[in-house]
Amino acid sequence: MSKQIELPAGIVIRDLAQKIEISPIEVIKKLMANGVMATINQSVDFDTAAIVVAEYGFEAVPEAQEEVEQKETGEVPLWRRLIADEDATKLVNRPPVVTILGHVDHGKTSLLDAVRLTDVAAGEAGGITQHIGAYQVEKKGRTITFLDTPGHAAFTAMRARGAQGADIVILVVAADDGVMPQTREAIAHAKAARVPIIVALNKIDKPNANPDRVKQQLADLELVPDEWGGNTMVVPVSAKQKQGIDDLLEGILLVADNANIKANPSGKVIGTVVEAEVDKSKGTIATLLVQNGTLEAGDIVVAGKSYGRLKAITDYKGKPVKKAAPSTPVVALGLNDVPAAGDVFRVVDSEREARAIVGERIEAEKSQSHTKKKVSLEDLFASVQSGEARGLNLIVKADVQGSLEPLVVELQKLGQGEIGLKILHAEAGNIGENDVMLASASKALIVGFNVQADVAARRLAEKEGVSIRLYEIIYRMTEDIEKALKGMLEPDLVEKVIGRATVLAVFPASKLGRVAGCRVTEGELKRNSKVRLFRGTDLVFEGEMASLRHEKEDVREIRTGFECGVGFKSFHDIQVGDQLVCYVVEKNEI
Ligand code: GDP
Repeated sequence: MSKQIELPAGIVIRDLAQKIEISPIEVIKKLMANGVMATINQSVDFDTAAIVVAEYGFEAVPEAQEEVEQKETGEVPLWRRLIADEDATKLVNRPPVVTILGHVDHGKTSLLDAVRLTDVAAGEAGGITQHIGAYQVEKKGRTITFLDTPGHAAFTAMRARGAQGADIVILVVAADDGVMPQTREAIAHAKAARVPIIVALNKIDKPNANPDRVKQQLADLELVPDEWGGNTMVVPVSAKQKQGIDDLLEGILLVADNANIKANPSGKVIGTVVEAEVDKSKGTIATLLVQNGTLEAGDIVVAGKSYGRLKAITDYKGKPVKKAAPSTPVVALGLNDVPAAGDVFRVVDSEREARAIVGERIEAEKSQSHTKKKVSLEDLFASVQSGEARGLNLIVKADVQGSLEPLVVELQKLGQGEIGLKILHAEAGNIGENDVMLASASKALIVGFNVQADVAARRLAEKEGVSIRLYEIIYRMTEDIEKALKGMLEPDLVEKVIGRATVLAVFPASKLGRVAGCRVTEGELKRNSKVRLFRGTDLVFEGEMASLRHEKEDVREIRTGFECGVGFKSFHDIQVGDQLVCYVVEKNEI
């Protein structure tokens, strides 16, 4: 009889190979023989894995669902926090709020338009004409609210302000283009916010659409399609030909049924500002999404740093309404100033109370701007200890995919201790603004390996108080994170590479033994700074520079393009072709 082996719904080839103690190459060969092409880092579904293990005498059985709750390091969504304070007996289902994310040109806007056109309620001449940043559609007698500002910026802005607009993310992936950088980013955003994802596999009308390829790519990103035994709904659609839209709406209702989307219509009135602008004649026009309680015309509202008595509220079709229940978007007039998209709003009892709250906020902001709090490793540890945060969130960037994978594996190992560690996003490439936005919204730390943070990203990081740590050596990164998880991290010190040079020649020197004749290829070398010498990828020396000379003269520094002689403290084994990296250690002031 064959031996039983437990397998999950989807498994990466490397892990599968390890499980049955067979070389991954053998496994890949077996898959190929069965007509499946896959690389070591790709995952296969249960059925495919079962065929492979059967060849080695195992019988695959589905893995038992883990009973213990996974160590969650994500945030608690706003509405969960809200309803935690509400009387449980008064909670009722509310319409799901849906947002559309995805790579540029994959059809987000087209899909929003297509969904809007299916709306029976708005089916009257012309449908919805005004754009207020959100609209609602009816399906099977139930309502679904769509946020009409596609893109990560809006979604992240809300999260960065502590709000959470959406209950469900529709991830649009063009079937002819597949998973692209912004698709990955969208997945990271949704996962960080712990919002369920439904994939709309768009453009299936195109002759070069390749749905299976996209499904494989999604499975590789842990979004295993339900038809492969996973739990991600993948709905083929064509926004252009209006195909599959009903299926998508039904899918949303199904996911909503499992997501426990509730509110207390008679409870505290709280919600999120979707967008706002000033109109010359009407004053501030704000689109508000009610998330708990019932908003009424005449209510006094505080939103961010603005407040006011709502003179009139209209629904998304421009029709005046008296009341708005949870998940309803409305346009409100009457705020004294323009709140920011993503600001949380709430109803208060009097204008005096509203003024006091706003006054405090303005004061707090003034004093905060002097001491902008940074999400440093030490702070994170402190908040984990005090129970405020549930673990360390990381965004990992590396120069190439090849270095990213081992890095993620190493970091994940560290997260198995007492304090969880969650990698929200791991990608090859320099650190950009989007990474900083995600970090800010998720209280995460960005670690980079052999990458730089671009200027815009640095600026935003400074503004948002996001900490970026750059490393050139994997174990230094893992060491730091390990220390942070144990709460032993020393002050926030970071290495900053200031220059690089190539060794062109090696000279004998009387005092130092040998000196490297170098050309500076980047930045500058400084005497008394720290250096590392690499031979290929091997680190052959790490320590201090003993001398720096330019044409026999001792110099303090030497810039790109110049040649120089560099001596090292107690190290002589220099070779032509070695790469020199010069760095300083300073307080993290990014
Ligand atoms: P966004 O950048 O994600 O909002 O994408 P858009 O909605 O602007 O669409 C980008 C392009 O793809 C436009 O030229 C659309 O006409 C086209 N497009 C969108 N959906 C479909 C579809 O289902 N089929 C085809 N063939 N083209 C589509």
